[in-house]
Amino acid sequence: MDFNEIKALDGEYLAKTYARYPVALVGGKNATLIGSNGKQYIDFGSGIAVNIFGANDEEWKQAVIEQLGKIQHVSNYYYAEPQSRLAQMLCERTGAKRVFFSNSGAEANECALKAARKYSFMKYGAGRNKIVSLKGSFHGRTLFTLTATGQDEFHKYFDPFVPGVAYASPDMADIRKVAGTDACAVIIECVQGESGVNALPKAFVSALENWCKQSDALLICDEVQSGNGRCGTLYAYEQYGITPDIVTTAKGLAGGLPIGACLFFEKTENALGAGDHGSTFGGNPVSCAAACNVIGRLTKEFLLEVQGKAAYMRAKLKDFDGVKEVTGLGLMIGLAVTKPAKEVAAKCLENGLLVLTAHERVRLVPPLTITKTEMDEGLSILKGVLQ
Ligand SMILES: *Cc1c(COP(=O)(O)O)cnc(C)c1O
Repeated sequence: MDFNEIKALDGEYLAKTYARYPVALVGGKNATLIGSNGKQYIDFGSGIAVNIFGANDEEWKQAVIEQLGKIQHVSNYYYAEPQSRLAQMLCERTGAKRVFFSNSGAEANECALKAARKYSFMKYGAGRNKIVSLKGSFHGRTLFTLTATGQDEFHKYFDPFVPGVAYASPDMADIRKVAGTDACAVIIECVQGESGVNALPKAFVSALENWCKQSDALLICDEVQSGNGRCGTLYAYEQYGITPDIVTTAKGLAGGLPIGACLFFEKTENALGAGDHGSTFGGNPVSCAAACNVIGRLTKEFLLEVQGKAAYMRAKLKDFDGVKEVTGLGLMIGLAVTKPAKEVAAKCLENGLLVLTAHERVRLVPPLTITKTEMDEGLSILKGVLQ
């Protein structure tokens, strides 16, 4: 099908939930993608921070094919090796004690929020159930995670919301005030993605950890976007020197297949018991085999390379005409620009570069395996567009 046929069918048969850019992506290699028009695109988006190793990575593909050759799905009534192995890898790398697998970021957060309420219920009884979330946060599109998303623009039409969620500024005085005496958890993104790629201040996150410990409110780190090497460490919270009680992740975890994970640390490892939560597809063996390949390859050396690439791109970007500020952490890059971000993204596409936006920022989340040639090519297109 050529692009216009694809677009026509989409327009006729798909729910109108997405405003799409005028391109259909059909293939590629690493950070160089091919459109149905035959045109090449440098990829600074990774499909929203998902394709960690870019397109068509040999080793990743082999891991997926090997599992497909065995069995594609195993019900959670039974055991499956890829799930067991991935959980072990995640726990050994982070110090977490147990993992629940889901299929998406929202579901990973849904699991975390439910676990926080159960933890509090078992210890303190009913009523201590408030979830404190930050203004400007994004935690997903299910009703609970949408409620926990601290941006009013997402809250149109969908009343009534889940009770017991309150929003605070990233400021300890406000956290205390909003939390009151009945908070069971605070959920944060160390680097807020959707609202503009803003890294939270270290002093705030550290003070929040202390306050959470003192008040036995669980600290949940949403690493759906910032995790899995994106920020130059396996998880971004490591760079904040904190130990969360729950960590959620998804997007890049399986390098392009659907998965979500909710990691329980010491305090929360027994929060959920048999029958408390579940998912038909959760921990799918193909996704888990892919994620084992991802986590196994995010070695210290690999992460150092990510840090090097991030430093390289950031140094270049900061000197571009039309860039006011470079934000975020590692290869999760936000750009405050002088032109409207959406316009920049559209112009980049015309010139062969895929970038994302996040509110008024341009957002760059390239594959972690992006080569120097690909970085240079993409940066040169972006430079031209921003001038
Ligand atoms: C993308 C994202 C989510 C939602 O993930 P889905 O897989 O789309 O459900 C949640 N939290 C953060 C921080 C995200 O970036």
